[in-house]
Order: sequence, then C-alpha cells, then structure tokens
Amino acid sequence: MIGKDFIRVLYIDLTNKKADIQERKDLYKYLGGAGVAAKLLEENMKKGVDPLHESQPIIISIGPLSTIFPVVTKAVATFISPHTGEYGESHAGGRLAMAIRNAGYDAIVITGKAQKPTYLVITDKNIEFKDARAMWGLDIEETGRVIREREPGPGKRSIIRIGKAGENLVTYSCVNVDTYRHFGRLGIGAVFGSKNLKAMMIMGEEDLPIANLKEYFKTYQEIYKKVTQTDAMAKYHELGTPMNIKVLNSISSLPTKNLLQSTFEHADDISGETFAEKNLVRKVSCVGCPIGCIHIGQFRREFDKGYEYESISVSYDHELIYALGSLLGIKTTDEVLQIIEEVELAGLDAITTGVVLAWATEALKKGLISREDTLADLEFGNTMEYVKAIDNIAERVNEFYYTIGKGLKEAVKKYGGEEFALLYGGNEMAGYHTGYAFALGQTVGARHSHLDNAGYSYDQSAKELKDDEIINYVINEEKERAVLTSLCICLFARKVYDRPTILKALNAVGINWTDDDLTRLANDVFFTKLKIKKELGYSLENYKFPKRIFETPTMWGKMDEERLNRLLKMYIERVEKEYEDWSRGK
Ligand code: SF4
Repeated sequence: MIGKDFIRVLYIDLTNKKADIQERKDLYKYLGGAGVAAKLLEENMKKGVDPLHESQPIIISIGPLSTIFPVVTKAVATFISPHTGEYGESHAGGRLAMAIRNAGYDAIVITGKAQKPTYLVITDKNIEFKDARAMWGLDIEETGRVIREREPGPGKRSIIRIGKAGENLVTYSCVNVDTYRHFGRLGIGAVFGSKNLKAMMIMGEEDLPIANLKEYFKTYQEIYKKVTQTDAMAKYHELGTPMNIKVLNSISSLPTKNLLQSTFEHADDISGETFAEKNLVRKVSCVGCPIGCIHIGQFRREFDKGYEYESISVSYDHELIYALGSLLGIKTTDEVLQIIEEVELAGLDAITTGVVLAWATEALKKGLISREDTLADLEFGNTMEYVKAIDNIAERVNEFYYTIGKGLKEAVKKYGGEEFALLYGGNEMAGYHTGYAFALGQTVGARHSHLDNAGYSYDQSAKELKDDEIINYVINEEKERAVLTSLCICLFARKVYDRPTILKALNAVGINWTDDDLTRLANDVFFTKLKIKKELGYSLENYKFPKRIFETPTMWGKMDEERLNRLLKMYIERVEKEYEDWSRGK
C-alpha cells in the first residue's frame, strides 16, 4: 500500500463463500507484482496435488507504483500451471491493476471451488459471490456484455473472464482482461474453470495517499517525458510489435509452416505495414499508459446470404500474427484476423493454439493422425479448417481434441511427432527463430516464456556470441526483469525504467530503497521461482530439444545441437551453484 509498510491481501475462499483481509508486513520486501505473487504462491500451493484441484490457489498482485506512474500497468497472476505442471505466471494490462488499486488491495488470493458457476464482484466496500450459471457456455464477448449489463457502473471497473476453453479445462486457456488484454499463457483459464469461476468484476474508489505530492508530480513529469518525447517507446505506438514480421522475415527468423521454413513467401502480405494500411482502425492503451500499443484491426464478414455483413474488431500483435499467421501459412491479414477472433472468443492462448495446430497439420500429412481425428482438413493456408479446429479444441469434441487440449507435450506422447513439436521447456515456441539465446532462454525461463529474458533480442545483437556471454545475458536479464515485473512495469518500458529511474519513482512515494535493495529483490524473486519449480518436480536433466529447430536455419545459419546442449548444461551448473549460495544465505 502507498504510504504503508505492508501488503494488503484479500483472501477469497470460493468453497465457503468467505473473504478475509490481511495486512502482511513480511511481504513488503517483495514490493508487489511477481515478487509478492511468487511468495504467496509458495505459501498457498499444494505440492503433489493436481494443478486443477480446488485447493490450488490463484494469486493476482499489483505493485506500489501501479497506475500512478506512466506505463506501470500490469497485474501479475501466479498459479500452478496445468499446462506444464510447474510454476505459472502471467501478466495482463487493461484496467485491472487500476481497479485492484481503487478497491484497496495489493494482492488477491483465491482458493476453493464454487458449488455452481460463479462470478465475483470485488469492490472497496464488499465481496459478492454471484450466480454465473446463465453465463456458463458463453464466449468471452458475450460474458463481458452480460456482466456489463448486470453490474452497471463507471468505466473504472475491470472485467476478467474465461470462455469455453477455460470451462472445459483446456490447459492453454486464458483469462481475458477487459477485452483486449489477457493472462495468456500457461492455462490460468483452466484454473478459473476448475473453480467454477467464470469471471470477476473489480472496482473501487479508494484514495491514493501520496504524502509528497510535489515530489511525485515532478518525478511523474520526468518519466512521462521520457516515455512520450524520446524514441524509447515510439515503435510500440507506430506499427507496434507487428513491425517484427518484416524484420524477422528478412533475417530468416520468422517461424513459418511449423518451422519447416524461417522465411515466409507471404510475409509482406501479413506484415505490420499491411495490417496498418488495410485493417488498422484504432490504437488503445492500458490505463496509465500514454503509448497506445494495442492495435485494433477490423475485417468484414458475411454472416448471411443477401449481402449481410458485419465488421469485426480484434487486437493483433506480432505473436498472434506469427502463431496464427506465418506458422499456419495464412496469406492475408483478413484471414489472420478471422483466426485470431476465433481464438479470442474461445478464450485460448494464441501462441500455444497456433503451435498445436501447426504440429497437427504436419502430423496429419505424415499419417500420425487421421481425418477422423481432426474432423477438419488441416492444411497450411486453409483458414476455414483452422477456424473449425479451434472450436473443436475449446469444446474438446473427441479423444484427439481432448488430448491436444493438453498441449503438445501430451499430444506427442500419444501420437508421436516429437521431432517437429515446437516446444521449449514444455511450453510452445514463441515467434522468433533467432538462435541460441532465444532457444536457451525460453527453455530455462521461469515460465518458459520468451519474455522471461528476451534471448531473441540478444541473438540479434551480434553474430559471434560466446557461450559465457549467452549464459550471463540470460541469467542477468531474467533477474533484472524480476525487478520490473515486481513493480508491474510493462516490459515495453524497460528502457525508460532503468534502476536510477525506478529508485526515483519509489522515493517519490516514500519507499526509500537503494540499488542494493533492488539487487536483493532480483535474486530473491529469481530464486523463489526456482524453489517453487523444484518443489513441483522441475528438472532439465535429460532434456531434449526438438529436432526441427536444428534443421531450419536461424538468422546465423543452422544451430548446432551439441552447442545448445552444452549451453543448457552450463546454465544449469551456474544457476544451481548460485541457488545453493542463495539458499544458504536465507
Ligand atoms: S505499452 Fe502497450 S501493453 Fe504496455 S502498458 Fe502501454 S498500452 Fe499496455
């Protein structure tokens, strides 16, 4: 809490419809976001119990600077991932952080299981458990509309919800946040579904007790200028991350057709530039961000005979265009948007859905699965067949879809095709085939996300990277990002929020931390996550990378399997040693 030395945690027990508030001084040294959420997960998780068991928790946390400084917009969720069985962490912007702040909380811990489908209404005055039976089976858009109608109020509220995929426990279902943002990866949607929790509406009107307003405004202005008047973040507003499509394609790093290729002959047709020229209708922002990086594209759809058309708006970014575009061989922006819309309505994680479908396309061609399994003629470039398959995943219509609803790890156990299953550390590949730092980084990252340490960016920095340099980068970057995510700073603002700026912002609201405190936090968060993973049985001993990543050239040519395995071994040795030192110091 601003001006206080504790973290105010709201505990919600769905089974008994009870809520409790605790002011936790002991959590204060983790600041908020990923730090507090990891600690609360460590405390509340049940080892050796199914991630979808009702006793497992969902944690959502914000930070001390949330929405009071520019681009400090994220809420961080932690859970045990039903997708990997490991540490689950996901970040979302939108209005959620502001709503939690205005409701007067720093973190929310949800446990138990509601007896019937339920949605929660959390305000600064009350916690209500409401009947969601009529919403069960509705898609993301319909659910949002019903809650807006049932819970009228000003625009300062946040509505988060799951679709059919979450209800049906697809292990890569997401939680939609305020329509255009998501807790995307690792299956938090299924954790909501396992608790009969369809949605949450959060709002409040708590004041912000900032003691030294003069200092606060001064620091705010300095940061605002850096955000808006330098080129630190300009690219995110202009074309946004879709600008990567053309760039990655030109350097042979755009995974295409299940990574049979790293360049796409139709890259120009689905580039950020083409989306902007043909489909872009507006750009929106998370609350507290002046950038507006969320690009909304529109396409026209014929919904009935007789010239009946509707226009559909969906947000798009690089990862979506990669996973539901180039990786599936989709050639036009309208078609990419159509597939994105289907994924959105079902409430699925876009990256994993695209990678699973790309694998299924190749597995069908190779005869590992049949048309009776897929119920669709999956073929690269065939948009309508992918649209059918997405619905089948969310509905889990047969044994095949039930299996692939658990992701590629389970799919290859049953059907084979491990060599072309694009998995890094049990999570499906993000949209960069740049080289060793990306491959290692996604594999070892705490949540197996490309955003844990951004190896793809380091790969692009130089041709001849030494082994030591890669290891140092991956470890140091992930630790530094632990500071940013504990403060809930959007990672797009990482160039704005260097350490001096972070300390200045903290000081301006009365948190007098030093550089050493930030280093301590970085280590504590990094190793707390590793501790949780170890307790859940995580190990990279005997880990095998998929063959396909070595067959298709990256920007620097083909990767050498032996070298990547050596890098993994070096990483494990170094981190294990540091982990022992950290544990001893506890
Ligand atoms: S840069 Fe984009 S994702 Fe980040 S806070 Fe701003 S609008 Fe949200």
